[in-house]
Amino acid sequence: MNNKEIIQRKTKILATLGPSSKTIKKIIELSKAGSNAFRLNCSHLSENDLAEYINKIRRAEEIIKKPIGVLVDLQGPKIRIGNVSEINNSLKKGDTFIFDNSKAIGNNKRVYLSNNKVFNSVKKGHLILIDDGNIHLKITSIKKNLIRTKVIQGGILKSKKGVNLPQSDLKTSALSSADKKYIKIAANLNVDWIALSFVQKPSDIKELRKLCDSKISIMAKIEKPSALKYINEICEIADGIMIARGDLGVELPIETVPGWQKRIIRTSRVKGKPVVVSTQMLESMTSSLTPTRAEVSDVANAVFEGADAIMLSAESASGSYPVETVKMMHKIAFSTENEKNYNSILANQIEETPNTTPDAIATAAKTLADELSSPIIVCYTESGSTGIKVSRVRPSQTILTITPIIQTARKLSLAWGVLCLLQKDEKNLEQMINSTKVTVKKSGLAYSGDKIIITAGLPLKVEGTTNLIRVTTVK
Ligand code: PGA
Ligand code: MN
Repeated sequence: MNNKEIIQRKTKILATLGPSSKTIKKIIELSKAGSNAFRLNCSHLSENDLAEYINKIRRAEEIIKKPIGVLVDLQGPKIRIGNVSEINNSLKKGDTFIFDNSKAIGNNKRVYLSNNKVFNSVKKGHLILIDDGNIHLKITSIKKNLIRTKVIQGGILKSKKGVNLPQSDLKTSALSSADKKYIKIAANLNVDWIALSFVQKPSDIKELRKLCDSKISIMAKIEKPSALKYINEICEIADGIMIARGDLGVELPIETVPGWQKRIIRTSRVKGKPVVVSTQMLESMTSSLTPTRAEVSDVANAVFEGADAIMLSAESASGSYPVETVKMMHKIAFSTENEKNYNSILANQIEETPNTTPDAIATAAKTLADELSSPIIVCYTESGSTGIKVSRVRPSQTILTITPIIQTARKLSLAWGVLCLLQKDEKNLEQMINSTKVTVKKSGLAYSGDKIIITAGLPLKVEGTTNLIRVTTVK
């Protein structure tokens, strides 16, 4: 593996940081191994931890002189049970079990539920799942602040485990007071992406949008059946989508998750929103240097589906081999992208294109590059939107975005196939084009005589004005 391969890889890698990867040195190693952006999971971090991690990533970025994306992942309306006793904690099929709002330590008869609004969100007959779906209970009656259930599938009850309510629409706010504190820190430290867990409807994204700087991109985590109902609308208003297969596999029959993954990726690709496939991609590498064949296939499948990014969770956050896992993910993605059918498979999945000028320009850029055997499509971009539009058409050529804005470069770290170069705008378009020709030749992205395709918006420096396409020859 070499640096060139990492630059050539189209599918981005998003690695979660945690105890196994918390030093600046490790963050640099992970970046050099191929990680393009890092996820900070607020479920496992204090507010201080969050600020510290962000600062470390920025420090690493300065050292390696390459834009790195930061994604802050909010817990959202995640529900948990309270503490549970170490004895008398086994639930047996047929037992009666109660959820209430008393903080007293729980046992095999009752336990505390962390979110009060749950009591009026559920209905008799609904399922309650605990601990990633290991324990199943069915609601038999509901009183104020008390839910009585019958155990359908038993197990050992453990403190603070997560609760899933696949059949209930949660009448809770999309953001907890803790989420709001994390948002403030993230906004103050200029993070690039904020992801929201357990999105149920489009207005959840709007609620988050109100609290964020407009420069921060918002990613909707799809892990509730209700989000699937509104997937088109959510995709329309979010800036990116995460297929959060961990909770999705608890909330839905697990065998339906692969089909949903395909549908969500297509919806996101049609709308031109970066889409991340997450959870258990190389899970066995938390404690082994070799992944299972099924995991390798899973990563390759997400790449074949044209996902923008593939994610590592425990593998890079708390596993024994974070760097080796990133290297493995890179190798699988790179090899898959070089499979001879890759480009035709990607092209065959998407039929519709939004009929906007920037989308038409992106399609034209790909056609021109194909016809003229150009090695590269260059986009001058302020907000990053032109880069994302060109990425949407999944050209086989290198997409080089040139921007004077570091935040734009960082944001594009999750967009398929986009390489980003930070460069001050020249005085006018002709000077920009001349300096680009020198740059691409110097960096080996194109050679003398190659035609390159350039997209831009005139006037320069104004966001969202992509209206120009130009073919020029490298001297
Ligand atoms: P989580 O989200 O790791 O924050 O739970 C991802 C998932 O549910 O798959
Ligand atoms: Mn989740």
